[in-house]
Amino acid sequence: MSDSTPCFKHRSCYVNFASHLLNSWNANMIFPDAPHAWSAADFERFFDMLRSFGFTCFEFWLIPAMYDPKALECGEKYSRFAGIMRSVISAAHERGLMVKFINGPNCIGREWRFACPNDPDDLELIRKLWRHWNRELAGADIVGVFPGDPGGCNRNGCDHRTYIELALRLMEITLQENPAAETELGTWGTPFSGWGEDLYNCPGWDGSWKMMLDGAAKANPPQCHIWNGKPERAKRAMDELMKRLPEFPENTSVAINLGFSGDADATAGGDAREYVREVAKSRRINSWDYSVTEGELVVHPHWRLPRIFSRRREERACAPYHGAMSYTMSPRLSHMCMYAAAQAGINPDRDPDQVSREFCARVFGKEHEALGDLFEAFEVVPAWGFYPRRRWSKEEAHRAYKRIIEHLESATTDACELPLYPSPEQYRADLLWFARKFAGMSGPNPDRGAIRREYWQRCLSIYDHVPMSVDERANAAADQFANLFA
Ligand SMILES: [Zn+2]
Repeated sequence: MSDSTPCFKHRSCYVNFASHLLNSWNANMIFPDAPHAWSAADFERFFDMLRSFGFTCFEFWLIPAMYDPKALECGEKYSRFAGIMRSVISAAHERGLMVKFINGPNCIGREWRFACPNDPDDLELIRKLWRHWNRELAGADIVGVFPGDPGGCNRNGCDHRTYIELALRLMEITLQENPAAETELGTWGTPFSGWGEDLYNCPGWDGSWKMMLDGAAKANPPQCHIWNGKPERAKRAMDELMKRLPEFPENTSVAINLGFSGDADATAGGDAREYVREVAKSRRINSWDYSVTEGELVVHPHWRLPRIFSRRREERACAPYHGAMSYTMSPRLSHMCMYAAAQAGINPDRDPDQVSREFCARVFGKEHEALGDLFEAFEVVPAWGFYPRRRWSKEEAHRAYKRIIEHLESATTDACELPLYPSPEQYRADLLWFARKFAGMSGPNPDRGAIRREYWQRCLSIYDHVPMSVDERANAAADQFANLFA
């Protein structure tokens, strides 16, 4: 960790442990009797690691499974979650980390029902749930209102203005229950994801996730249920936000990325930079740039370092960003990208390849720092946020996997300098497993059926113990993994 003042003072690690993203390396916070349930002690060790990497904040989504009317009756499942998260907040504070939670306020329950703020009963439910969880988690340092994804509404006249009004009212509740909290207004994509015209206009929509998804899929041509806003709509939404921003609590920051999409690439709501500069004149801004470190779907050891560093430099060039968020759905596997993301927040000018070698030297010893170059060959899965610096030929990638295997088989982690969670040895074993699978798939005549079964067993078998998520993406992930290099 070098010199001087960090470029991004606030460096948040966002662990998304929602029910559609469970896997062997994620925190299972929903099903205590199923595998990979994390206790407060797991978080303590995870926080030691985050701290050593250079993060300043742990971030989580309150998740729809907990944002459920049954929580108001304080059922065991909900009070257990609240209890663990209170211990988590204390453990983070003991280690000098802040805790932030975000929530899309109108996505209710594990069926993902989109409540309508223009329906009085639904609005009352939203307000009650928001108050309940802000009271339960009153130790949190930052509370973010997030537009949705899932979430949002276009029934009963709801649009981007409804979201702004709702966010204002919910922040009042937050400050009643947790007066010391900072609040954050999320803009996410287009903006504001899922509100008004951004959401697919589903005839006769009943607010259910299923009907919305089916409707969008069956539309002609099929479309995504969100991300339908265009730059003109983003302008209307942001103009409205600029008008109303002075009404927000004094300590409200704004989460906004450079390009109004999940990749911040200006493909949906257009170029966000003029708005970023405008917001920064009166509020602290944090980038909320989801896919730079990792995408959703196929879990594997990502290597996205050049993009992580260049994105932070682009943000610095645009406006005085206060914070940067780095997302993961595999906090027990994604050590390389997490380390790089924290380091990029501190100093975006560092050479990503040097950071990669440094990380490997610190974990596996100086004699294995070449792994820092070789791990780039893991970045070959064409999924969310896949913008690789180079395209590996199958043969070249195969050679890299063979060398990774040689290094990892001979390396020890006895002298690891970083408090990796769950352990440096487990990290080595997991990397080795992936390297062997990648080598198999890039070699002659892979048995893809067997690889799919092994991937499921090693990565996703939690879904043999818990209900499949409503979006069923685990199956798609296993298919996609098994067809690499096909
Ligand atoms: Zn509505």
